[in-house]
Amino acid sequence: MPPVAALSTEPKMEEWMVRELEHWIDGRAVPRGDRRALTVEGPLRREPVARLTLGDSADVDSAVAAARRAAREWGDLAPVERGRILTDVARRLRQQADEFIDVEVEETGKLVAEMRGGLGVAADYFEYYGGVIRALFGQTIDLGAGDHAFTTREPYGVVAMITPWNGPLTQAARGMAAALAAGNAVVIKPSEFTSSTTVMLARLCQDAGVPPGIVSVVLGTGAEVGAALVDHPDVRLVAFTGSVETGRMVAEAAARRLIPTILELGGKSANVVFSDADLDRVVDSALTICVGAGQQCAALSRLLVHEDVHDELLERVRTAVSERIPGERLAPMTTEAQFEKVVGYFAIAERDGARLVAGGRAAEGDLAKGRYVEATVYADVTPDMRIFREEIFGPVLAVTRFSSEEEAVRLANDSDYGLVASVWTDDSARALRVASRLDAGQVMVNGGRTGIETPFGGYKASGLGREKGFESLMHYTQLKTTVVSTR
Ligand code: NAD
Repeated sequence: MPPVAALSTEPKMEEWMVRELEHWIDGRAVPRGDRRALTVEGPLRREPVARLTLGDSADVDSAVAAARRAAREWGDLAPVERGRILTDVARRLRQQADEFIDVEVEETGKLVAEMRGGLGVAADYFEYYGGVIRALFGQTIDLGAGDHAFTTREPYGVVAMITPWNGPLTQAARGMAAALAAGNAVVIKPSEFTSSTTVMLARLCQDAGVPPGIVSVVLGTGAEVGAALVDHPDVRLVAFTGSVETGRMVAEAAARRLIPTILELGGKSANVVFSDADLDRVVDSALTICVGAGQQCAALSRLLVHEDVHDELLERVRTAVSERIPGERLAPMTTEAQFEKVVGYFAIAERDGARLVAGGRAAEGDLAKGRYVEATVYADVTPDMRIFREEIFGPVLAVTRFSSEEEAVRLANDSDYGLVASVWTDDSARALRVASRLDAGQVMVNGGRTGIETPFGGYKASGLGREKGFESLMHYTQLKTTVVSTR
């Protein structure tokens, strides 16, 4: 694929297959100069696809300074004006969909259909927040005659955003759309493995009318750029999406500075199936472990099944999963470390005594050039096994049998995580009873679908705060109370 011109100030023709990525700061690409660079190999064939500048704290300083300079004017615009610009970001994203999809498929390995869906979601975020920001309002508080009290929701100013590699475009769009709508400036550090579409999005925002400095992208590693961003004295809020381990470090650093964080972390979500469930639909929901090859925080990676339907459901899931042929209907692992991690869990599951029902190996033959693993199902998984407790972030389903409602709830909640849960039953009283007892930020009953309008976030170690929905605007704004004496 030719380089994306927008990403490079000086494309080198002899290396035209590899995208050159540079920081996007204060409305322009920053030439790499003598900064170090990192070459990223894509997951489809382990061939170089991008070379990015490795930034440092000086780059963070310039991006934050530009954001600070620009933030006031952007925050002072009428919400309807910011909204119009963000709606135009959505329109342009849809117009340039193919370019974004090609680049992100190459870097993440996602199936084209998956990425097409992701692009639509990214555009929807801008459209939604571009509209709904006009509905944000404060309150008046009755203090009696003589004092007029009211609240307003104000932007923080400079927001730092740090994203992972599994959904670079949608995750950048999710936070950016809400933060920008609320009147903040954003400095974003994407994962060093999948930075291209974030740089493209920043450029596109500017084309749509977002002023220079309001969106900057600093490229590089978490240890250098990510940590410097969180520590920067002018950053007033950090929105982090990634692993629990890194999330904890980010939260600690932010706590030292007494700034708030929004943390969207991992999951080990339970899909609870009672004997009166519609098994056809349950099979479809179990297959979501194959979406993005399981590299999704919200993946329903634990299937808890009532003993009366356990064997039948397991057989149906086994058949369906076996049809998810790597390279055709199953994406590869995006990074080398993730590939090794998943393959490592195959050995761990075997050692712990889980029963292999499908998959369980890295893909072979021609596919071995890429980072493909087979869609995998383990049965007889018990809470003491690591594959019951730990987030694998691959196409690996752990199946556990239960015999009572109480046991189902206990198993579902027996996790450090609490991102998502799902319940299947024809008994509406039981559905609501179980849903209310599950420790999860969102619960789907009988396949209820969440959307960009529904708040999303974790209980327990899965995170703090909420993204998506109107609720997100509460996190990207701070509340001010003003009292005027009318005496
Ligand atoms: P990660 O924690 O390794 O990295 C996430 C980001 O943090 C990257 O940009 C990385 O460079 C940066 N980073 C690393 N060290 C840092 C530091 N010390 N300070 C600041 N930033 C630092 O996660 P990952 O492997 O890229 O992503 C996978 C994880 O993300 C999984 O656990 C997954 O569940 C989670 N995730 C959560 C959601 C959600 O919305 N809840 C969505 C997608 C992914």
